[in-house]
Amino acid sequence: MSAKYIFVTGGVCSSLGKGIVAASTAAILKASGVKVAIMKLDPYLNVDPGTMSPFQHGEVFVLDDGAETDLDLGHYERFIDVPLTGDCTVTTGRVYSEVLSEERDGKYLGGTIQIVPHITNKIREKVERAAANMGVDVMVVEIGGTVGDIEGEPFLEVLREMKAELGSGIVMSMHLTLLPFLAASGELKTKPTQLSVRELRRVGITPDVIFTRADMDIPQEILKKVAFFCGVDESNVIPAPTVKSIYQVPLNFAERGLAQIVSAQLGLGELTPQLSEWQVGVDKIMNASEVVEVGLAGKYNELDDAYLSVIEAIRAGGIAHGVKTKIVWIDTEKIEQDEKNEWAKMRNVKGIVVPGGFGERGIEGKIKVAEHCRTEQKPYLGLCLGSQIMAIEFARNVLNLTDATSEEFDELHKSKNHVVHFIPEQRTIRKKGGTMRLGAYPCLIKKDTLAHKLYNSQEINERHRHRYEFNNQYREAFTEADFVISGQSPDNELVEIVEVKNHRFMIGSQFHPELKSRPWRAHPLFAGLISAIVNP
Ligand code: GLN
Repeated sequence: MSAKYIFVTGGVCSSLGKGIVAASTAAILKASGVKVAIMKLDPYLNVDPGTMSPFQHGEVFVLDDGAETDLDLGHYERFIDVPLTGDCTVTTGRVYSEVLSEERDGKYLGGTIQIVPHITNKIREKVERAAANMGVDVMVVEIGGTVGDIEGEPFLEVLREMKAELGSGIVMSMHLTLLPFLAASGELKTKPTQLSVRELRRVGITPDVIFTRADMDIPQEILKKVAFFCGVDESNVIPAPTVKSIYQVPLNFAERGLAQIVSAQLGLGELTPQLSEWQVGVDKIMNASEVVEVGLAGKYNELDDAYLSVIEAIRAGGIAHGVKTKIVWIDTEKIEQDEKNEWAKMRNVKGIVVPGGFGERGIEGKIKVAEHCRTEQKPYLGLCLGSQIMAIEFARNVLNLTDATSEEFDELHKSKNHVVHFIPEQRTIRKKGGTMRLGAYPCLIKKDTLAHKLYNSQEINERHRHRYEFNNQYREAFTEADFVISGQSPDNELVEIVEVKNHRFMIGSQFHPELKSRPWRAHPLFAGLISAIVNP
């Protein structure tokens, strides 16, 4: 059977949670036994988000195959727990760059290249290829941006063409809008939704399902009104009120019969979503009363999107232990400048995560954070850069290599002790030809270490995104001084996990464990951190 498609578009304004709607729809299908994946069509002109600032665009989410994608793919994987591939992310930039390089190669035999059909055909080819390569029954396709945006038009045209050609039994269209509340009239207004659907119709698309967002419960008459004015069955207008936890959304949609609505249109047979895992998880979230504060020592402070997967992984660690986690942002630049309040914040939290990052800013502060945690026996989890920081701090303060640093922060090579450095030979083995180590690699864990206890396994597979590595010249000095190298690449060349012996919980990974955390299956390193905090 060839795949069926569900396209998700958004109207009225951005940030309504289209990614969550797409992910929830897919989660319900998966829980009904349907083989499903999700992909994102993004209208921006960057080829991929790899070089975009997390400050502007949110975190870069890396997949097993090394594709650098945006944070929506993280939501998708957390919701459906299916490893996605680079096929599942398509940007306008990538589409254009491929079409233009084919044009330069003469593939179009001198023809005139146009948005329709060349760009649209390329997009469609990518959608169909992703579905075929993932081997799914249903591919959920989120179209980024808001209906009416100039740059989104080619994607909508693809949806229109596919629906016209393949029919409504193969291609389904879902639209998410906002119902604004006007205090003066005391009601939720449907007009923006009507106009947004009219805009969709203008480009030839009639939605099959409409999701309506609001910050409050949405009365049935309002849903009825939306149905009437937008020409959609009343049962296919699904309320999406703001909820406490995004993980309630699949349960709410399932209760509204979304599985049956999809199945009726796409002919998927009788679907009964088995969502008990979700119900149990959501109940745990709702019932957790103890609040555990976890310090997050980063530079994009208070910017949830820049550290989304880290925050979600901390949260999942909390769910696993029946506690609610609260992030306390610690600004490492302020720690560096010895600002009293920031130091007080750091001293107050019972455990700290030092996340990944690039560049020199805030580095000295992060080293102080690591020193504080090491000397105070405070649980510390270092992610990528955070593990490099652990090594630098240990080198400076325990091994007395006072100028120890990473090559990344010492372009002029003023320091003699690059305990973290770039390994030129790695350049040739790296998957994408660049200098970054990207994607999933195996790692072997040493017995009788903290890592071994946490993972309860001797071989793991984790995702990477970094350029620099632990410098093997220093291995002996470190390990003689109670610094444990507990995880390595199978050829023993690359240090993957480090820990401090005689410490309650001080561990760092060269990879990004947060990328493989799932809401109901906390990652062992994060579950371990929370456990170390709640059971001192
Ligand atoms: N900047 C460091 C490196 O390139 C760490 C990267 C990261 O934390 N993702 O190795």
